[in-house]
Amino acid sequence: MAATVKQTFQHLWALQQLDTELRTLSDKLSQIPGRVNDLKKAAAAIKTELDQAKGAIIEHKVQYKLSEVELKSAEEKVTGYSVQLYSAKTNEQYKAFLKEIETQKKIKSGVEDRMIVLMEETEALDRKVRENEKNSAELDVETVRKVQMLESEQQELEAAIATRREQREATAAVVPADLLKRYERVRANKGGIAVATVRKERCSGCMSPIPAQLILEVDRQDHLYLCEACGRILIVAQE
Ligand SMILES: [Zn+2]
Repeated sequence: MAATVKQTFQHLWALQQLDTELRTLSDKLSQIPGRVNDLKKAAAAIKTELDQAKGAIIEHKVQYKLSEVELKSAEEKVTGYSVQLYSAKTNEQYKAFLKEIETQKKIKSGVEDRMIVLMEETEALDRKVRENEKNSAELDVETVRKVQMLESEQQELEAAIATRREQREATAAVVPADLLKRYERVRANKGGIAVATVRKERCSGCMSPIPAQLILEVDRQDHLYLCEACGRILIVAQE
């Protein structure tokens, strides 16, 4: 038994709803790999930062050890020149030793300043590492949880898409072939929307006014009409 025009309206409307839903679901599905990737990247970034801070601490400790050696050497030189000072034979020698002592003291003070900076920086890095380790661990847990959620969302979306595809196939099967062809063509050309309703005397697809006579004809549901402006299939609103 051939479907009435009214039934065809309902089928077209259902088809349009299913296609719109399928598009939304597919869009959501296609975004999931990117979202998973972003989460993993964020977790990896904090780990990289952590590793860099750890590397900087090691480097600071090496520099500190080297400074200790430098400091000791300057101290020994100060001691050495101080002893020599008393055995200076001439005034010039005495002055030269004094100058050396002064130089070594300056070196010593410079090294000490550097060591303080190194120590402060190391402490700051230690704090950062501790903080980042905590954050990184928390983020890892959070990331695993979020990725799992996205994976189950993906499964749900795939299942929903499969169901709607089946429904779509069944619905498309009862729409007359030539009409279905038109539907597909308009849908491809008009941003996925092939079926429009008359709303406030306008086409819901393109907002063009619809002549009063045409509205009456569409309302009778005994014939199919197209919007003259956009070519969409005009049906009575199915609420
Ligand atoms: Zn239109």
